[in-house]
Amino acid sequence: MHKFAHLLAMGITLMALTAGAQPVGSVATPVVDNAPLKALAVQGVQSRQKLAQVINDTLFSYGELAFQEVESSRYLTALLEEHGFSVQRGVAGMPTAWVARWGQGKPVIALGSDIDALPRASQKPGVAYREPLVADAPGHGEGHNSGQAVNIVAALALKDLMQREKLPGTLLLWPGVAEELLAGKPFMVRDGVFNGVDVVLYNHVSNNLRTTWGQADGTGMLSVEYTFTGRSAHSALLPWRGRSALDAVELMNVGWNYRREHLRPEQRSHYVISNGGDQPNVVPDTASVW
Ligand SMILES: [Zn+2]
Repeated sequence: MHKFAHLLAMGITLMALTAGAQPVGSVATPVVDNAPLKALAVQGVQSRQKLAQVINDTLFSYGELAFQEVESSRYLTALLEEHGFSVQRGVAGMPTAWVARWGQGKPVIALGSDIDALPRASQKPGVAYREPLVADAPGHGEGHNSGQAVNIVAALALKDLMQREKLPGTLLLWPGVAEELLAGKPFMVRDGVFNGVDVVLYNHVSNNLRTTWGQADGTGMLSVEYTFTGRSAHSALLPWRGRSALDAVELMNVGWNYRREHLRPEQRSHYVISNGGDQPNVVPDTASVW
């Protein structure tokens, strides 16, 4: 629960700082004692332990792939509406993307976290060995079931405090849709979802309680699938008539693997053959590498 408390403390600090800010040249900024508010924030989080676990487990049970986060989004938006948030669905052209808002005016604090699962990562919860719940089904192998629990509990605790202290401000909750396909966030930025937002607090499960700010330390990413076309033929009877698209994919991979030697150390490159043909006795006329 410390992580929740930390996130909240950041939010509360920000609110207090903003509320206490003075224009340049005016009288000295009064010292704001945040300790009582922080204690209340921690209490607001602790009292929602059960809710945090329920959200966590519910999202884990859905384990939906990128762009298919249908039940997850339905559940989260309904929960937020129950707590007085107004929800806009299908934002940025993505059916499973949404924005939930509560409050008014500045500062606008956006709380985000990813919600999509990974292919074939279905896993029985609570055991430290590999055991799928459903063989070959998707699952939350990267912990994307946990972040929204953190955000919602933090937002509800903060909302209570804002109401109690009559603090102005808007809470804006949003999901990282299709993070595993590097897809959702750029569309949301492009469509202006974050226009007017003062700060984005974003959380992701990890093996520690690290906090960073500013420029992220991950690598910028690009996702491309290359499809080659050739000419099909019967592999045994008339192979000379064929032009294998799979050969093109393999030649491209070999070439790129030589190129890899000369990449800068911070650069990474990965691939899978997403289409290598249908069966060996047919020369593939299309093949793709992603
Ligand atoms: Zn992730």
